[in-house]
Amino acid sequence: MSSPPIRIASRLDPIKPSITLAVTAKAAKLKAAGVDVISFGAGEPDFDTPDHIKAATKAALDKGGVGKYTEVNGIVALRTAIAAEMSAVHGMTIAPDQILVSDGAKHSLYNVFMALLDPGDEVIIPAPYWVSYPDMVMLAAGRPVIVPSRGEDDFVPDMAELEAAISPRTRAIVLNNPSNPTGAVWGRRQVEALAALVVKHHLLVISDDIYRQLVYGGAEYVSIASLGADIAARTILVDGVSKTYAMTGWRIGYTAAAPELIKAMSKIQGQSTSNAAHVAQVATLAALTGPQDCVATMRTAFDERRLAMVELLRAIPGVTCREPKGAFYAFPDVSAFVGKRTPEGAVLDDDVQLCDWLVEVGKVAVVPGSGFGAPGHVRLSYATSMPNIKEGCARLRSALGSLT
Ligand code: PMP
Repeated sequence: MSSPPIRIASRLDPIKPSITLAVTAKAAKLKAAGVDVISFGAGEPDFDTPDHIKAATKAALDKGGVGKYTEVNGIVALRTAIAAEMSAVHGMTIAPDQILVSDGAKHSLYNVFMALLDPGDEVIIPAPYWVSYPDMVMLAAGRPVIVPSRGEDDFVPDMAELEAAISPRTRAIVLNNPSNPTGAVWGRRQVEALAALVVKHHLLVISDDIYRQLVYGGAEYVSIASLGADIAARTILVDGVSKTYAMTGWRIGYTAAAPELIKAMSKIQGQSTSNAAHVAQVATLAALTGPQDCVATMRTAFDERRLAMVELLRAIPGVTCREPKGAFYAFPDVSAFVGKRTPEGAVLDDDVQLCDWLVEVGKVAVVPGSGFGAPGHVRLSYATSMPNIKEGCARLRSALGSLT
């Protein structure tokens, strides 16, 4: 039986599948086939969701009434808890009607771009960037404008270069602090400079704070919204529980913004996905209002792994690695290996080919930097066990050492 020809909408033409999900899927497929692969691909904590969150969710399910449609924006108790926490973190008053709960921070960001952008509107995205920002902007008919940053500047973009990228079509700048993939944490002066730029040019800043609680080694998360009323009014805050509470699969993220933007986003969500899963909202309420020591425990574990991984990577001849101060990623420069020949005789022309060869032959999965707008780099997640980190870095060392 032949199937009818299906024409796919042209809005998908520039859209790439998420490279991080692709690498993770490839490693998972090899593992399922019995191949012993160590994966540094996944952008998620290896910890299980903390017990008290699971217990509170089970109790709520047993009590009954959980599992119904809720208000599109999320149950009032959860929006009240989120508003209270965000008000404290960002030093401003955020009301529950300024909160929209969505199916993960990714969904929150998608709603933001869909609600904000007219065709051709520009969004400035500093590179290296989280893979999904440019594609989400394009899906919303906007134009991503990429501004590169350098490792020697700790991957914080130069403010003059950011300013030079502003055009009459610029609507917003994306700030991801701490950053996926670089682990960079912006200093106070840098956040202040960005705030001044946003206010001066009457733009908006989309502050993706999903890693804000994961900072190490004396680094401090500085909220851009906390710097004054002018910038607060121009800030769209995106946050969630995925990374902080090891709740990636529950799919809850949220946005705090001016009521008119929240209303517009809610209209989109109400006509597409409706409320985020009720049970996941209940779990999120338990995460935000319950004991917080689980966050510190996981942060301490990530910190130890961070230091171990950076040391092991720096010990590989040809690899250079800055110290990441936040999130759970190392982002070493592996450009010395691009163009080299494998023992099997193939030439690795770019970081994508390098990563393909590393997973297939080296049995270690890392994500190519070009997916993040930073060719010549690779991203490794250290949200995995210490034995995995040691064995995976040993594999990396021996595989890279075999290239000529
Ligand atoms: N922003 C960044 C920078 C991320 O790394 C991720 C997850 N990889 C998200 C947003 C999306 O988070 P969620 O899983 O809550 O959708």
